[in-house]
Amino acid sequence: MFQAPKEFSVLGMPVHVMDNYPSWLLNCWQYNQGTHVITLNAEMTMQAQQNPTLAKIIKSADLVIPDGAGVVLYLRWLLWQKVNRCPGIELAEKLLCAVGQQQTDKTVFFYGGAPGVAATAAEFWLQKSPGLNIAGTYSGYHTPEEEQQLKQTLAQLQPQIILVGLGVPRQELWISQNRHLCPQSIWIGVGGSFDIWSGTKSRAPSWLADNNLEWLYRLYQEPWRWRRMLALPQFAVKACIYHLTAKSAT
Ligand code: UDP
Repeated sequence: MFQAPKEFSVLGMPVHVMDNYPSWLLNCWQYNQGTHVITLNAEMTMQAQQNPTLAKIIKSADLVIPDGAGVVLYLRWLLWQKVNRCPGIELAEKLLCAVGQQQTDKTVFFYGGAPGVAATAAEFWLQKSPGLNIAGTYSGYHTPEEEQQLKQTLAQLQPQIILVGLGVPRQELWISQNRHLCPQSIWIGVGGSFDIWSGTKSRAPSWLADNNLEWLYRLYQEPWRWRRMLALPQFAVKACIYHLTAKSAT
């Protein structure tokens, strides 16, 4: 039914390269094709090297998009062709806008973020796209009992799109463990997207993003990230070694 996207390897992790991710996903949405989308960046790739469970989840995802500048630069180097970056937040936005225009009964669910953040993000979306049918929201900080309640709610509502913003790798593990609850849904790990839509945080200005420097803005906004960001130079070194040794082996 679907054209299989072209798959390439970035440090052993699959990445799907195609021209139009939103339309591929919209097709899944139209045909109720259960889908798990992973938004791969250099940091997640490095985490996967240390975390076999995360690596397994990425390898079995239906769609892995090149979310980060490091992954895109590596793919351009590997393929010698233009590869467009597809930030997860933008893919989710395009999908929500397209779905909002369809005026259907199919619903959307937001899970994650500090208390009230997903609900404020939902209000933002209802203003932006009144046709969107948001079935519910749930904070990412809760007791195990509340999580059981969330799972029951999801199983009952069967939202067609479920955005999970718990950060990496928590959201990937959670989706992998729970996607059977809504097997026909599109599940996307969206990181801090609810923070952006709710106005709690802002995205980097486009001139920084266009120059592959979005990470610098995040570091400025969240200086505590410096330790996590050590993964970026490590990724660059590993990518060079991986690429050159793979080349010499051919
Ligand atoms: N978060 C959550 N529950 C948790 C831990 C984190 O809902 O137990 C949320 C947090 O409030 C934030 C998001 O997960 O909205 C993580 O955002 P970040 O930008 O750090 O994601 P990443 O860079 O890991 O994709």
